Amino acid sequence: MNTAAELVVAIDGPSGVGKTTVSQGVARALGYQSLDTGAFYRAAALVVKFHRVDPEDEAGVLAALSGADLDYRHGAMFVEGVDVSTAIRSESITAASSCLARLPGLRQVLVGRQRAWVAAREDRAVVEGRDIGTVVFPGAAVKVYLDAPPGVRARRRAGETSTTLREVATQLGRRDRLDSTRAASPLTLAPDAVAIDTNPLTADQVIAQVLELCRRRGIEPEEGRYRARD
Ligand code: C5P
Repeated sequence: MNTAAELVVAIDGPSGVGKTTVSQGVARALGYQSLDTGAFYRAAALVVKFHRVDPEDEAGVLAALSGADLDYRHGAMFVEGVDVSTAIRSESITAASSCLARLPGLRQVLVGRQRAWVAAREDRAVVEGRDIGTVVFPGAAVKVYLDAPPGVRARRRAGETSTTLREVATQLGRRDRLDSTRAASPLTLAPDAVAIDTNPLTADQVIAQVLELCRRRGIEPEEGRYRARD
């Protein structure tokens, strides 16, 4: 299933590039909601860990997730009604989420949930991840690919955690490799995406560029309702 998605703003890019800050800023300006799809992979890792399932065992992983209640509300991730936003940011869950993200069956389940989340908001959403413009919403109105050199991303991430820059750089490199070399929905620039090098820009400047792309596609605040013109 794929929606026409003519109102969706897709933000893809590698880890630590600033996708969440930009997505939330763009969403706020448009009166949209933003969805961090990475939180779904992280929540899945938490569920799998809770059930002590081997992450390589795809059938076991899918069984553990089949009845799981995953919900994303106002920037927070909930599993069975419990806010797990902090728990899913731990080092072990971060690493496990990238391993699980290689499983095609798991991706299919989570992509279905992400599409349903957006459909429930009448497609008015800024959606960030790795495969949004390529797989989840190939018909998105606006597709942006944020990028920055690995060293810059590692420095930004290190500023947010207590881990050393060296460790952050190693983990980031490992996740970059897994995300861009996996067979299922690898991180890649969609042919119709606009690439933005965030290195020389502030978050506000990136947000302004994305909003300009939205405006060109007719997505802008309009009498309290937001719709695309074409
Ligand atoms: O974005 P975040 O770093 O929180 O995502 C955690 C992991 O989930 C990523 O390293 C990636 O492996 C996976 N992911 C994905 N596809 C997405 C979002 C995240 O494979 N759309």
